[in-house]
Amino acid sequence: MDTAKKDSEKKEEQSHSVEAHLIYGRMDDPRWDYSHHLLPPISASATYRLDSAQRGAQGFTEFAHTTDEVDVKSRVPIYIYDRLGEPNKDMLEENLAYAEGGDVAVTFASGMAAISGVLGILTGSGSEVLAHKVLYGCTYSLMTNWYPRLKIAVRFVDFSNAEEVAAAITKHTRVLYMESPVNPTMRLVDLKAIADLVARVNAARDPKDRLYTVVDSTFATPFCQRPIALGIDFVVHSLTKGIGGFGTDIGGVVIGPRWSHDHLLLFRKDFGGVLSAKSAWPVLVVGLPSLAVRMRQMQATAQRVAEYLETRAEIERVLYPGLVSFPQAELAHRQMRDFDGNFAPGAMIYFVMKGTGPEDALERAERFINTLAREAYCVTLAVSLGNIRTLIEHPGSMTHSAIPAEAQVAKGLDPGGVRLAIGLEKPEDIINDLEHVLHHAR
Ligand SMILES: *Cc1c(COP(=O)(O)O)cnc(C)c1O
Repeated sequence: MDTAKKDSEKKEEQSHSVEAHLIYGRMDDPRWDYSHHLLPPISASATYRLDSAQRGAQGFTEFAHTTDEVDVKSRVPIYIYDRLGEPNKDMLEENLAYAEGGDVAVTFASGMAAISGVLGILTGSGSEVLAHKVLYGCTYSLMTNWYPRLKIAVRFVDFSNAEEVAAAITKHTRVLYMESPVNPTMRLVDLKAIADLVARVNAARDPKDRLYTVVDSTFATPFCQRPIALGIDFVVHSLTKGIGGFGTDIGGVVIGPRWSHDHLLLFRKDFGGVLSAKSAWPVLVVGLPSLAVRMRQMQATAQRVAEYLETRAEIERVLYPGLVSFPQAELAHRQMRDFDGNFAPGAMIYFVMKGTGPEDALERAERFINTLAREAYCVTLAVSLGNIRTLIEHPGSMTHSAIPAEAQVAKGLDPGGVRLAIGLEKPEDIINDLEHVLHHAR
């Protein structure tokens, strides 16, 4: 063992903040020899040179076969082929697991590939998923368009009501799937209440029929909440959003318990939705290290913008967990906390335009967004979120259009609803643009 390793072990023993760890990671990881680099180089090799057939065979045997006997972390790993694993992804996964407080992380080609991956290892034909009634549009489409073909049943209930969830669980239910905050309505799910409920159900079940909880925490990022600490089994993120932070790459991750690691790696290897090493790199060296500073800035701005929107007569209501008026303010304060325990309401705002009825509200929302697309400098009409630029969109006709219009209203998705994803601009600049547009879109 070299001296650099000893130094780092010494450093690890001292207590440093989470933020420091997200910047430094384990820079003397045996998986990559770059003690002379400040940043890990981009790994750009689809395949790997093997010294002998025996070494190749050992690599294949060890892949996704974690045992207590082989301590693969203390020696140089055997890389075989990028789809199985490579250094940039491995380093990123270690840091993502750390950020979420989970045992292991496995990255995927996109947020949707990560969601398909975790549900892929937890379900099979005949099993049933219980999901919150409002979900990101593509997740909803996955569950309603594709799962019927696989004979996986999906039922939708209101996860903000734990009793309703408890009543809906059947002996076939294997997964409870939810987002919090919910995209786009900003409804929160009491994650601890759901985890406690599942623990009670599991206490009476055969371990092989165990129920699992999965939370899509994309809106919050690990900075604003850590569901695993509340008892949730799996967290998924779209790395494309707040964690990646700069909108350069698509990616996803599943974070969960140690036993799931091999299953997730095998799923990823065989279904093939592997994160490109070149896309893992910016998340590793730019996105994750700057997550805390970006989120702190963005949520301070979001607070100012949400308070401003609340003063506007054109707007029916504003939903932002940092507002005093937020219907689930107590839960928000309990659940949304940063790495230091401060209240962390995030950078996503949902607001509903005032109208004489649903059609009028829809028309006003569209007019507002179209004027904004034409005239605003600091607010951009685009899907995605957690970007350095403030983005605005109309969920009803864009990100959530997979949910039929009538179903949207029944699920509480307002026709006049607008989603605002705050970026790194100064609050004054965003408010100026919104003010101008609200004035001219009347
Ligand atoms: C964007 C998003 C996804 C999907 O992520 P991709 O990286 O686009 O595949 C899933 N869930 C939520 C909440 C999202 O916002």
